[in-house]
Amino acid sequence: MKIIDAKVIVCSPGRNFVTLKIITDEGLYGVGDATLNGREKAVVSYLEDYVIPMLIGRDPQRIEDIWQYLYRGVYWRRGPIGMTAIAAVDTALWDIKAKAANMPLYQLLGGRSRDKIMVYTHANGLDLGSTLEQVGKAIDQGYKAVRVQSGIPGVAGTYGVSKNNKKYEPADSDLPTEDTWSTEKYLNYAPKLFAEVRKQFGDDIHLLHDVHHRLTPIEAARLGKELEPYHLFWMEDPVPAENQESFKLIRHHTTTPIAVGEVFNSIHDCRELIQNQLIDYIRTTVVHAGGISQLKRIADFASLFHVKTGCHGATDLSPICMAAALHFDYSVANFGIQEHMAHSEKMESVFTRDYRYVDGYFTPGEAIGHGADIDESIAKKYPYKRACLPVNRLEDGTLWNW
Ligand SMILES: [Mg+2]
Repeated sequence: MKIIDAKVIVCSPGRNFVTLKIITDEGLYGVGDATLNGREKAVVSYLEDYVIPMLIGRDPQRIEDIWQYLYRGVYWRRGPIGMTAIAAVDTALWDIKAKAANMPLYQLLGGRSRDKIMVYTHANGLDLGSTLEQVGKAIDQGYKAVRVQSGIPGVAGTYGVSKNNKKYEPADSDLPTEDTWSTEKYLNYAPKLFAEVRKQFGDDIHLLHDVHHRLTPIEAARLGKELEPYHLFWMEDPVPAENQESFKLIRHHTTTPIAVGEVFNSIHDCRELIQNQLIDYIRTTVVHAGGISQLKRIADFASLFHVKTGCHGATDLSPICMAAALHFDYSVANFGIQEHMAHSEKMESVFTRDYRYVDGYFTPGEAIGHGADIDESIAKKYPYKRACLPVNRLEDGTLWNW
């Protein structure tokens, strides 16, 4: 089998998605997600100008060799743009291989390790009352795990909470909008929020919370400690993870589990946190961390240190990435949880998929390959529109982590 063509499809059905389609001489093709939220065109260029010309004529069944070729061969290793491009190729090649084998992808990955995949959804509200209402709605929909984010009294707007009562989609403007942040107001409010959620909904529902890199290590230690009575499933991204040593300080002070890694793109970004057992869940995704091939390596490494997977799965990933992720989740031994944020109807109209939701869990479906595809004629109706993520400032105007 040979690769005879590959193309990049960019569309914006409410938000931007980049899809790679690899076509073989035997009529089989595979698709992979190449979406890097807020920097989509950089990956398009990387694929079209450099990667696609290198793929033509290669045997698509040599997934590992092509992965190594694109990773080692570039000289400039790692980084989100290159690794997202590699991920798209890798996902499309696994799709082709599974189609050639006439089986669902999870079968090629070792078969299923579980019957169903627990996902968590998002509950966001502008204040305590509306947040509690959203948690109730998620529980009514059958979710067993809910990420709770709430507007903070005295702070104009914050991460994870929509200003207009629509679904939260942060990449919403041509140039970055600016948010304001107060660590002290947040730290005073967050424990009260979770106390209320537990009081109203009891102990059974899994609760998650995303700090979104807003704290310093000692502040994160305080938060983790104060949230202990409400036994969170995890506290996500408490501090930026460039300085991984700093997680020791958080760890020394709290038993609240920690999840990190949605912005990581390489196994080397995860290594120190995993091998020093400084986290409990690794959040790397198929699309940003070099595809299924590297995600398998990360998960196997993590399993040695009792770290479970918890893949990022917000709407910045297309249904193609979600499908690939669910095959991975189904097969991997040390699965923890999968994030799921429902795409809009408009977004869903561009993609077909076989995965399905039943009562808090997903299954990837039994279609051959990963089971997701893009309808190019519908995609054409929604041309690319630049959309940037916000930036964040403290109340005195200092630029902070978004
Ligand atoms: Mg996050």
